[in-house]
Amino acid sequence: MKYLNEIIDTLSRNKIMYLIDEELSNHTSIKIGGKCKIFVNIKTEKELIYVVNYLQKIKAKFYILGNGTNTLASDNGFDGVVISTQKLNRYKVSFKNNNASIYVQCGMGLFNFGKLLRKMGFSGLEFAYGIPGSVGGAICMNAGAYNQSIGDFVEYVKVLKGGKVKKLSKSEMKFSYRNSIVQKSDIIVLGAKFNFKKGNSKDIENLQQQYFQKRLSSQPYSDLSFGSVFKRKENFEPISKLIDMLGLKGYSIGNAQISKKHAGFIINVGSATCQDCLLLIKYIQKKVYESYGFTPEPEVQFLGD
Ligand SMILES: Cc1cc2nc3c(=O)[nH]c(=O)nc-3n(C[C@H](O)[C@H](O)[C@H](O)COP(=O)(O)OP(=O)(O)OC[C@H]3O[C@@H](n4cnc5c(N)ncnc54)[C@H](O)[C@@H]3O)c2cc1C
Repeated sequence: MKYLNEIIDTLSRNKIMYLIDEELSNHTSIKIGGKCKIFVNIKTEKELIYVVNYLQKIKAKFYILGNGTNTLASDNGFDGVVISTQKLNRYKVSFKNNNASIYVQCGMGLFNFGKLLRKMGFSGLEFAYGIPGSVGGAICMNAGAYNQSIGDFVEYVKVLKGGKVKKLSKSEMKFSYRNSIVQKSDIIVLGAKFNFKKGNSKDIENLQQQYFQKRLSSQPYSDLSFGSVFKRKENFEPISKLIDMLGLKGYSIGNAQISKKHAGFIINVGSATCQDCLLLIKYIQKKVYESYGFTPEPEVQFLGD
């Protein structure tokens, strides 16, 4: 890797935590992925800004990783820097009339965010309880369920863009179905401010549990996966339903299998490889194209060489 020693030296001098040759399978929910050259554990927003600006300046390859629940990492690993945001989980609350606002750093997990909102009595995001991602990953993907998305509750997103820290409004974020301006751009999410209604903790908990139980009964939640493989196509049934109608539930390539419980998920039933998953994705795309005339677009993000 170009600049390897220089990067290591810079991280060490600045007391930024990192690992060398770290297995990406330790950091993805589907437990797939070879080694990445440098794996950085960011502790503060300031560190994140510093590291990203530095890597952009020297034109080093990097990937921002939240909880790795929508990431498929290459078997060959990544000859670059993976920046983990998981330790960035601070928050700040403010009130205005009957509304509550909360700024959350990008690494906070949606589970913990949900627990915090419940404790504070802030209502709105109950549908997301059980989505296993981080706030940064959820903003990037505009994660959602049951016809609601995280972007609906955003006041602004604090980002690092072109070396500068900015606040992007909800409209500037260009949220749409499982998409935001963050995808395919150099924008890094540092955190986001959300607005919620004041509610009752008990009601919030009940609603969270209802959504969570619904999720447990319909998704292969205890299997290893990266969530929905494909984005929904407008004017068509959900892709999972189309795959199911093609009789593909349970179909496997290597140790990657189309879940028998929910055809929208690929699960790792042994020691599946990224290659197994990619071949299975291609196979599904071909089958869907042959029967329905379009190629489903993957939702999962690819990391690696
Ligand atoms: C069992 C299961 C159920 C799921 N159910 C749902 C569901 O109901 N709805 C849904 O929408 N998704 C679902 N997912 C997918 C996934 O949890 C979400 O997309 C989640 O928001 C991804 O967050 P993450 O932190 O894990 O992202 P990662 O996988 O770490 O990253 C995903 C993308 O976001 C980028 N990213 C992460 N953090 C930042 C940041 N700070 N700044 C810029 N870019 C960033 C990454 O570079 C990558 O491109 C599910 C996944 C699993 C495994």
